[in-house]
Order: sequence, then structure tokens, then C-alpha cells
Amino acid sequence: MSDMVFELIRKEKARQKSQIHLIPSENFVSENVLKAIGSCLTNKYAEGYAGRRYYQGNKIIDEIENLVVEKGKELFGVPYMNVQPYSGSPANEAVLFALLEPGDKICGMKLSAGGHLTHGHPKITFGGKYFDTVQYGVNKNGKVDYDELTRLVKKEKPKLIWVGTTAYPWILDWKKFSEIAGSVGAWLIADISHIAGLVVAGVHPSPVDYVDVVTSTTHKTLRGSRGAFIAVTKTGLSKDSKLARKIDKAVFPGMQGGPHINNIAGIGVAFEEASNLKFKQYGKQVVNNAKVLADELKNFGFKVFGTENHLMLVEFGVGEGRKTAEALDEAGIIVNYNTVPGEKGTAMSPSGIRIGTPAETTRGMKEDDMKRIAGFIKRAVDNIDNKVELEKIKKEVRSFLKKFIV
Ligand SMILES: *Cc1c(COP(=O)(O)O)cnc(C)c1O
Repeated sequence: MSDMVFELIRKEKARQKSQIHLIPSENFVSENVLKAIGSCLTNKYAEGYAGRRYYQGNKIIDEIENLVVEKGKELFGVPYMNVQPYSGSPANEAVLFALLEPGDKICGMKLSAGGHLTHGHPKITFGGKYFDTVQYGVNKNGKVDYDELTRLVKKEKPKLIWVGTTAYPWILDWKKFSEIAGSVGAWLIADISHIAGLVVAGVHPSPVDYVDVVTSTTHKTLRGSRGAFIAVTKTGLSKDSKLARKIDKAVFPGMQGGPHINNIAGIGVAFEEASNLKFKQYGKQVVNNAKVLADELKNFGFKVFGTENHLMLVEFGVGEGRKTAEALDEAGIIVNYNTVPGEKGTAMSPSGIRIGTPAETTRGMKEDDMKRIAGFIKRAVDNIDNKVELEKIKKEVRSFLKKFIV
């Protein structure tokens, strides 16, 4: 059995080496992060928190978790952090569980505008089913309409407002969001899953001075193991001195059991890596690369939304996003189909694709490489039904990638 698994892992590794990865939420972790995830720490149960576990044998585990928490607090400049959430979605659910009662009103950005499912997407999600939810969108340029949001919030008076994006190529104005949330006394939560690495690198403003709670995945631009953290800011603590305790209790025992200590150690390794100068250069390069790629695609005549961060949206004809993503896949270029601002297609058959640079920048790509990639994309889109040409591009992609290591 395990032979079969390892054979497939070998195949997946070969795939990762031979294709261009432009999904903005993905990245390549370091050898050291992999070592931590694949370590003996996976053998240990440690329900509870450092110094108050429900199992024996956790002295060293306590030291590890404390170390990771301290490093995280320092990195983001926050007085409290919980690193136990299994991933971004459970972290966000824990925040709702900690701060609200079922039926309370929450407000988040629409999925179709670039928000996340966990920010109260109606009906089919935990937040959308157990809470009363109102959602905000973007204008025709794809930017948050702060005036519209102000009106919506004044009218609906939500108890909690999410600010966080998965497909939004612009800088978020934390100060404006804090004024809007403040006008109705709502909790303001920044979900920086996509941009955490950019915040650390100083190429996107930090929300820490403007919001009550910050949540984030640790495996996107931050380049750590799969997991998440929840941080409480000074502002949050000044509104409710028990806020940190409430978050801890919501994560365990509220939502989860034993923490995945191996992943937490991997987060610690990533926090350390993110605190050195090289990571600042990485963040800058991610944004520079995205800008060059967006400009090149615009020069080719594509309709591009963005970019001020690590990603962009490219619009094709109505409903043509999926077909385009599939053709690019055949050419060895991995993107995902995505809705665009003012979408006229559907979620399963939208008009655009989403492109991001975090993973290929980790591989060492620079501005010139982005120009090559833009060229590959242009050719693939021009030859969307031409299998022979797509196969030819795939071969060229493969040889182009030879000089980059994973
Ligand atoms: C990725 C993401 C999440 C969810 O994280 P998972 O680890 O996939 O559960 C939540 N919020 C935002 C903004 C994200 O980008």
C-alpha cells in the first residue's frame, strides 16, 4: 500500500517541477518546513495549551508551541496569538464562535467579488447558515466601494465585519474599514490569509493598528506549513480584556481537539524564515513580478484587473474562464478559473482566470521570466483548441523550468 502512495508522491513531485504554478494561494515551502511537518511531532497528542494540557509528556511540546507563539507575536507586532487552528477556515469559524451568538448579524465581502466562503457566504457555509449575513461587493473596476459599504453597514448594523480577500488585486484601506466598523461598534476582523507574507515583507500595509482580530493561513504567501493563526490586537484587547481567552476557548475545546504540533513547528520555522531580510526581498519580488506580468498581459490586449499585490484577474468572453484554464493546463501552466468584477457567467463557468506570482517567485523567477510566461499564456490562449501547439508550448515550458529548482 505505502509503495503505491510513494509512487504517486514521486509523480506529483515531477508534476510540480515541470509546470508553471500561478495559483496565488500556493507556494513552495523550504526543506526545513518540510522536515518539521514530517517529524516525530506528529505522534503526540497535546489537547489544551502550554502549561495546561490534558495529556502527559508535553514538556517539550509546550516549549515548541510557546516558541512559535512568541515568534508569531513578534513578527506581526501583536500581544496575543493562537497557532492551533487546523487551517484558515476553522480559524475563521472559531472567531465567530468566540465573539457571537447564533443568529447575530455578520458582514463580509461576496465570494464573487473576491471574498472567502467563510466570511458569511449565504446558506451553504457554517457562517451563512448559523448567522444572519449581509455581503458587500466591488465596483466595476473591481475595487471596494467604501461609500456603498458605509451605507450597508449603517443600515444593517452587523455585529462583526470581515475584511479579507482571495481574488482582490488591490491594497486594502484598513483605516477606512476601521472607521466604518467603528460607526456601528462592530468587531472588525482582518483575514490576511493571502497577503500575510506581503504584510511581513512590508509591501502591503498591516491591519494590526486598525482591527480587533487578525486571522490568517500560514501556507500561502507566508510560505509555511498548512495551518492558521488567530491574533488579537491591542485595540481588540482594549474593547474586551477577555478576548484572548475567548479565542483560546473557542479553538479548544470549542471547535477542535488535539493540535497538529508538527504543523505548528512548521509554522514556527516559516515565522523564523519570514523574519529575515531575504524574505523582505522575496515579498518585493512577488509584487514586482506580478506587476510585470500584468503589464505584459495588458500589452497583449488582455483585460486585466490589477495589480497592487501578488495577483491579478484576467477577463475573457462570458463563461470562457474554465476553457482557458484547461487549455493553459495542457500547456503546462497552472491557474484557476475565477469570477471577475461584474461577472456575467456563473461560479462554475466564470469569465476569468486568477493568476499569482508567490510560488514561481520562490523558485527564483524575476521580471524577465514573467515576460516569458506572459508570452506562453498569450500563445496558449491564441491556440486554445490547437492540441499540437499546446503540446509544443508544454515542452518549451518544461525546458524553461529546468534552470529553476523546487
Ligand atoms: C485560503 C483562505 C481561507 C481558508 O483557508 P483554508 O486553509 O483553505 O481553510 C480563508 N480566508 C481567506 C481570505 C483565504 O484566502
